[in-house]
Amino acid sequence: MKWNRKGHQFDYIGRHFRKRNKLFVYGAAEMGKEFLDRLEKIGLLDMVDGFIDRDVQKQAEGFEGRPVLSPDIVFQEYEEHHLIIVAMHEPVCSWILDRLQQAGYIENLDYFHWDTFWIHLNEPYLPLYALYTQDKVIISSSCCIPGDTCNLRCKHCLNFTPYIEHFETRELQEVCEDMDLFFKWIDFTFRHQISGGEPLLYPYLKELIEYIGTHYRNKIDVFEIVINGTNVPSDQLCKCMNKYGMTVYLDNYVQTISPEQNYREEIIRQLEMHQVNWVDNTVEDWFDLDIFHTDHSDMSEEELTEYFDHCSNPWHYYERGKIYACNFAKFAERAGLNQENESACFDLSCMNAGRKAELVEFLLNYNDQGYVQLCKHCAGYWDHINPKRVPVAIQMER
Ligand code: SF4
Repeated sequence: MKWNRKGHQFDYIGRHFRKRNKLFVYGAAEMGKEFLDRLEKIGLLDMVDGFIDRDVQKQAEGFEGRPVLSPDIVFQEYEEHHLIIVAMHEPVCSWILDRLQQAGYIENLDYFHWDTFWIHLNEPYLPLYALYTQDKVIISSSCCIPGDTCNLRCKHCLNFTPYIEHFETRELQEVCEDMDLFFKWIDFTFRHQISGGEPLLYPYLKELIEYIGTHYRNKIDVFEIVINGTNVPSDQLCKCMNKYGMTVYLDNYVQTISPEQNYREEIIRQLEMHQVNWVDNTVEDWFDLDIFHTDHSDMSEEELTEYFDHCSNPWHYYERGKIYACNFAKFAERAGLNQENESACFDLSCMNAGRKAELVEFLLNYNDQGYVQLCKHCAGYWDHINPKRVPVAIQMER
């Protein structure tokens, strides 16, 4: 999206949210409790004034330490101070949503299905509600790369690592200071990933995890790392990952790497022995951004903006105080394959408290240009825009 009211793109919905700056959760049961638990994690629990439920026993006893009100509170008169979050199973859920609409409430403004309200890769509601009512910045994901050294040469690496001429190993202190600046302005991220290269080759990985874990674990939902299955994490590292509740995404390249490089089974044993949560990241194929053959030079500025919007890549990369609008565009730049301009990043070193709305807008894919330079040579991310697939981890000659 191209900014046309920088810092004020969402003022309309923001004003509305400020009027409804407390929540009613419709449904005093398991799903309502789950919603409460999630709000607690991101520090928004105090926003819930109570539940709505027709169960008279629950109305008498309360639920999860909060009052349970009769549905009359929203149906007998028009209630205008609370956002209503419907947290119920079907078919009751649809029935309640219809009733709310018939009673004059507007969907996705006055009331929400809880799943719609919750953060999805590009749904703006929760971040906007947190911003306009609590002055908080909540984002879907973030990624940092402390070092880009890798022992593989995957031809279609989405980080373009094989094309990097000189690998970089950043100083631990510099990366930690980078994290300090990031979390000074980001109140909560649903996924925070340490990536590479192969992150297990970063010599200060344990210390970095320890630093993020100690200082910022409460600002991260899933604290994760992606490893390529060719290096076994040490006991010390596994203990540290366990301590901070990290999730390890274990790639599976056994079809393409040499048997001597394949440590997958050992890695799994090691992770399980130390009770580190891990996810089998086996996939059938990879997206091909195909930046060497894609040419969108015939697209107008408007068409490029539309293309960027349609791509809706939600992954933001952070490095040296700057958050990048598209991680792949920055990765290509790191590898010398692309040149971005200032509009492709948001510089947190120039941040102040008055610019939070700008920051949230940027994270919801607004920027000055409306797209990033790589869009001119990129086939895009996700199925809806890019049908090109390539085999996983095909290795290039050294
Ligand atoms: S088209 Fe490519 S460069 Fe543009 S936003 Fe999508 S992934 Fe990034």
